[in-house]
Amino acid sequence: MTIELGVIADDITGACDVAAGVSAAGLDVEVRLGAPRTGEQLVASCVIVALKSRTAPVADAVVESVAAARALRDAGARRLYQKYCSTFDSTDAGNIGPVADALLDQLASATISVGTPATPAVGRTMHRGHLFVGDRLLSESSLAMHPLTPMRDPDLVRVLARQTPRGVGSVPIEVVHAGAAAIRSRVSELRATHVRHVLLDAIEDADLDAAATALLDEDDVLLGGAAGLSVALARRLAGGREHVVAPPPSGRGLVLSGSGSERTRAQVAAHRGPVRTIRVDELAGDFEGVIASALGFIETEAGRGIPLITATAEPAEVARAQERWGRARAAALVEEALARIAMEAVRGHGVRRILVAGGETSGAVTAALGMSALRVRRVVAPGVAWMTATDEAGRDLDLCLKSGNFGGEALFGEAWEETP
Ligand code: ADP
Repeated sequence: MTIELGVIADDITGACDVAAGVSAAGLDVEVRLGAPRTGEQLVASCVIVALKSRTAPVADAVVESVAAARALRDAGARRLYQKYCSTFDSTDAGNIGPVADALLDQLASATISVGTPATPAVGRTMHRGHLFVGDRLLSESSLAMHPLTPMRDPDLVRVLARQTPRGVGSVPIEVVHAGAAAIRSRVSELRATHVRHVLLDAIEDADLDAAATALLDEDDVLLGGAAGLSVALARRLAGGREHVVAPPPSGRGLVLSGSGSERTRAQVAAHRGPVRTIRVDELAGDFEGVIASALGFIETEAGRGIPLITATAEPAEVARAQERWGRARAAALVEEALARIAMEAVRGHGVRRILVAGGETSGAVTAALGMSALRVRRVVAPGVAWMTATDEAGRDLDLCLKSGNFGGEALFGEAWEETP
């Protein structure tokens, strides 16, 4: 089977976001955790390599991304897509610009990167090179306060220009509305003026469809962006095939939340089942005791609904924990605890289905479970899907790895409702 689309994703929930959309569009898709080994068989029309490179040191992000791209190319991928966040999460140091530069340098086939973070399905739109989150400019959204990648400049041409020595240009919405031929000719004009990175305006899915038509067969283009454009490409590639929904494995369910995002806080507050909150102070004092009590909680609360074990806290409490224990140690305690709980719950407590909230948290949980590949089982909401995976011991698991800001407020309940 030919890999029509090879995606290099800068985090795991971003990879699942693309997988959910691409699969709903009708393309079969596999998510690989980490770059595939040389010669490894990759059999899906869309293979997504999930890295943990969004906030990694630039040099590491570059090395990992190039390795992933090479593995995908060696496996015969016809097109490469650099997946980044729909809110363009990055700093002046990177990693979006340096990774794009490295991919252009190392993969001689592409000479210009063209893409867009616009994903109208989740309220991300681009106009005049400026990114909007819902009705607000990026810089006026909660992303301006992001702890690692505060986005205080909504002009993404300017943002990307600070990350690369190469020229950055944009294709305005009027040109996108004029259709695929107009987009292609504008990209050619920009290339003639030495622009090497192009960002496209897009405010609705039809704009992404026009972009996908324009770019689908441009062999010298490195595609890039958030889930929106990758899904538009999948719509063109799948040609109306339907995604088949498989039943979930039987076993207990569990929700683990390590995200601090506004949306996840609302989801935790709205959860109807039993809730056990774990605190950083508690973990620092008696880590093993907290793990044991959380596992006991899963046992005693069975039958009262899906248990939620959560470290999610208001920003003031997170800040207090970070001040007391250090940002990295506080995060590591939470991630290690939730990962251990996931592992022990699967090993000894019959849990087979886990919904995880938070990108970093999801990375820690999948690593602890020893996963290497995920396949979409059922799409729950835009960017959110149940994925099937087999753990190191050969158990079939069902995982829903959700980015902090994704899903409606009732997601922790609705995700478990299996509708045919
Ligand atoms: P999101 O997708 O919302 O950004 P992540 O899981 O990627 O969520 O990131 C949240 C980070 O915050 C994780 O590293 C997690 O360990 C850390 N964290 C979660 N809860 C707390 C807390 N109560 N105090 C300090 N850090 C926390």
